[in-house]
Amino acid sequence: MTYDAQPQASHFIDGTYVEDKAGDVIPVIFAATGKEIARVHAGTSAIVDQALTAAQAAQKDWASWSPRERGRVLTRAAAIMRERNEELSQLETLDTGKPIQETRVADATSGADAFEYFGGLAGTLTGEHIPLGQDWVYTIREPLGVCVGIGAWNYPTQIACWKGAPALACGNAVVFKPSETTPLCALKVAEILIEAGLPKGVFNVVQGMGQTGAALVGDPRVAKVSLTGSVPTGRRVYAAAAEGMKHVTMELGGKSPMIVFEDADIENAVGGAILGNFYSTGQVCSNGTRVFVHKSILEAFLDRLAARTAQAVIGDPRDDATSIGPMVSEAQLNLVLGYIDKGTSEGARLVCGGTRLDREGYYLEPTVFADVTDDMTIAREEIFGPVMAVFAFEDEDEVIARANDTPFGLSAGVFTRDLARAHRVIGRLEAGSCFINSYNDAPVEAPFGGSKMSGVGRENSKAAIEHYSQLKSVYVRMGDVEAPF
Ligand code: NDP
Repeated sequence: MTYDAQPQASHFIDGTYVEDKAGDVIPVIFAATGKEIARVHAGTSAIVDQALTAAQAAQKDWASWSPRERGRVLTRAAAIMRERNEELSQLETLDTGKPIQETRVADATSGADAFEYFGGLAGTLTGEHIPLGQDWVYTIREPLGVCVGIGAWNYPTQIACWKGAPALACGNAVVFKPSETTPLCALKVAEILIEAGLPKGVFNVVQGMGQTGAALVGDPRVAKVSLTGSVPTGRRVYAAAAEGMKHVTMELGGKSPMIVFEDADIENAVGGAILGNFYSTGQVCSNGTRVFVHKSILEAFLDRLAARTAQAVIGDPRDDATSIGPMVSEAQLNLVLGYIDKGTSEGARLVCGGTRLDREGYYLEPTVFADVTDDMTIAREEIFGPVMAVFAFEDEDEVIARANDTPFGLSAGVFTRDLARAHRVIGRLEAGSCFINSYNDAPVEAPFGGSKMSGVGRENSKAAIEHYSQLKSVYVRMGDVEAPF
């Protein structure tokens, strides 16, 4: 892989790269080596203003396009992303440290899916006609205006596209702020949209830390904020948005349960637990990090889990064979190591992993704890790393109560061959995105998002349209006005 990661400039505003060296330097560190591969500057207040001015100026014209024409731009962007999948996957790997075998199938491809899906949907967005005898009401689906997207660092391409695609389909303009940890990928998305025919100013990227995000959220020109991040950040951003009565979508953290009943196909359930805990080195919000296994199959499950986890290929994410890359950053690695220490000191049984690899980069073994109890720190807090906690349970009511005993409500999974039980249990689990005999699928056609502290609103699917548009209702009177005097 010989990709030069350094972008032309830090920001992408009004259809072009823009630099302002007055902003703080943000070094881009390749997680596999710990070395700097690029650097950008945080957006100053002048840059924030420039981006919002461009977005506001471009939005009205974009909204006046016929929806099908808007859709055509998005589907063209999807095609370009697919053509450039290799290049975009390499960049995603450099930005995040995720293995190339993952980024080739999960990042630009899912971004392209979003542009394709919402591109197709654009021409179908309508209001409705509501008959009232001889009078009637019709509704007009209108864009919100300027939408701000703020991203986490685990899926920088996908997050930019999941927010951008529905926003643009509805006729909004976007200013996107990537995580300071992964600033590179969203710039490529902006470039591709311009190439696909998006008018300048409709999709802009501004780099920066939380402060830049806060400046965007607080600006009165902004109508909507969509955040992917942690619960504490979500709370702050939601509160700031409320000041201006702005629309919000909050895609936040989780501590999701995965329940394996005694009749489950053990091999499949082990596969689900691996996928739902170790993909992207465990840095996935919807991961099923609390794995409840029926007591009667617990040891068999743990044996297969340990055996299959031993087959993981931990290594340079640029190698095709690597299935576990490094953690995204040293800070995240140290945070996760702290949780592993807590797991051990609070009495959980370390089944495998738990150690940082003695080599350059931020490598951590996939880690499984058994004998975890519900009150342990590793059972309660989101770790956001490759650490699985396995619990024993005995009956259905008990496991449902324990699965729901968390402030989070992002995802939940059930493994069983008993279909009646599968649907019954899923119906009682408090989570937004659920799985039966599967884990972590996120097709663009399905709503994605959390309940409880895990979030507000939904991304993807037709449901996202509700979060990027508003209805104007128009009463039409055919006769005379009935005035009181
Ligand atoms: P953070 O909450 O730390 O940051 C998220 C984004 O918000 C970053 O771009 C950050 O900037 C920005 N930010 C921080 N403070 C503010 C503020 N006051 N105003 C506006 N923006 C601000 O999350 P991480 O990046 O560490 O990502 C991990 C978290 O994201 C986990 O909790 C994970 O569960 C969640 N997540 C949720 C997903 C979902 O769809 N539900 C998907 C992926 C992740 P910067 O970091 O650059 O300073």
